[in-house]
Amino acid sequence: MTVVTRFAPSPTGMLHVGGARTALFNWLFSRHHGGRFHLRIEDTDRKRSTEEAIEAILGGLRWLELDWDGEAVFQSTRLERHAAVANELLESGKAYRCYCTPEELAEMREAAKREGRPIRYDGRWRDRDPSEAPAGVAPAIRIKAPIEDETVIEDLVQGEVRVANEQLDDMVILRGDGTPTYMLSVVVDDLDMGITHVIRGDDHLTNAFRQVMVFRAMGWNEPRFAHIPLIHGADGAKLSKRHGAVSVLEFREQGFLPEAMCNYLLRLGWGHGDEEIIPRGKAVEWFDLDAVGRSAARFDYAKLTHLNAHYLQQADEARLLDEVARRIAAMTGAEPDAEGRKRLAAGMGGLRMRARTLRELAENARFYAASRPIEPNDKARKLLSPEALELLADLAGSLRENPDWSESGIEETVKAFADAKGIKLGSVAQPLRAALTGSNVSPGIFEVMAILGSAETLGRIEDSIAQT
Ligand code: GLU
Repeated sequence: MTVVTRFAPSPTGMLHVGGARTALFNWLFSRHHGGRFHLRIEDTDRKRSTEEAIEAILGGLRWLELDWDGEAVFQSTRLERHAAVANELLESGKAYRCYCTPEELAEMREAAKREGRPIRYDGRWRDRDPSEAPAGVAPAIRIKAPIEDETVIEDLVQGEVRVANEQLDDMVILRGDGTPTYMLSVVVDDLDMGITHVIRGDDHLTNAFRQVMVFRAMGWNEPRFAHIPLIHGADGAKLSKRHGAVSVLEFREQGFLPEAMCNYLLRLGWGHGDEEIIPRGKAVEWFDLDAVGRSAARFDYAKLTHLNAHYLQQADEARLLDEVARRIAAMTGAEPDAEGRKRLAAGMGGLRMRARTLRELAENARFYAASRPIEPNDKARKLLSPEALELLADLAGSLRENPDWSESGIEETVKAFADAKGIKLGSVAQPLRAALTGSNVSPGIFEVMAILGSAETLGRIEDSIAQT
């Protein structure tokens, strides 16, 4: 059997990390088994579905490189087919027309509430003769729920889950206005798309019992279900904006790499021994549903950041350079020029070791591409005291005479200068750093000087002196 999975988001908001993890599990499961992975946009709720949300979902999936097979299916284009299935069920006697008025239904709900019973449709039109139908009521179609026994689902994550059939009511599958309900649409689409495994959040577990009703009434083979526990925040509550970023594209903006994000999401609720670093290839090789945990996973921003720092060290330099240049342009309004890019490329090795995210990397790298005079931050400004500037003016004299502008040549000159003055290297290196980078932290100062070149280094020192 070819494994066919799907990701079926409702486009009513951003792509949440929970959704991204569902997509990832479906993608990995299909790739592990050499199967197919489909995308279905569940846009039947026209009021809440938006173009922006569709774009955010597609953009998020592309960024995470979770490619889907074939064209995305838009559920809203399939309503006629869904309605046809409702009518088939009607004809075969597995469903019936219900002529209840909204008032009657409201009464039913009120009575249930008063008596402390769960709200359920009482089946009053199930066996009633349609000739008794009141005039002017457009009937809904309801499916006949099983009355006795229980419904059992062998869930691949939750194990055997069962519900007494008396808990299930005759749900509406086609509304009075002829539109199918979500519960029907999902089932018909899963069948038509040949879905063999439905992997999704366990907030859909109760829906599964209702969906199974439709599969069984139609005599269709039902897919296997795997309901994965939701993601919680550190406090144990369902992960929400209150905890920090939750939208995948927000994580991208914050400077996380897609491979770090996928690795982290994979480890949230799934494990392979003690392995923490699991690149895509290994994930495809190892992923299966039997190692998905049954308890809610807690989202840990620090862990994600730690993984991100790891992938940042592995990433291709040219890719980092593009990312950093793009971010610097967004921060400053100016694309780094050729000279700036050259310096960024030369400095990338020293910069990436100190950064955990692309955002940090770009912030730390910015001084390489900045044009003179550079703006010192508050800490740098403090380092540039009148005495320190005097020292820098002297040092500039020695540097001007230095014929060897290699990292080691510069180091030798600066050290000799400090020795001659009888001061610690730090006393000159820190103001130097402040003058050259505008900050109190940076890669090794001799590396920075070598990369900036003598003219730029001396120019930046002169600017600091002139500025005060
Ligand atoms: N559209 C549903 C959601 O976004 C998912 C339905 C499903 O996976 O069956 O929550």
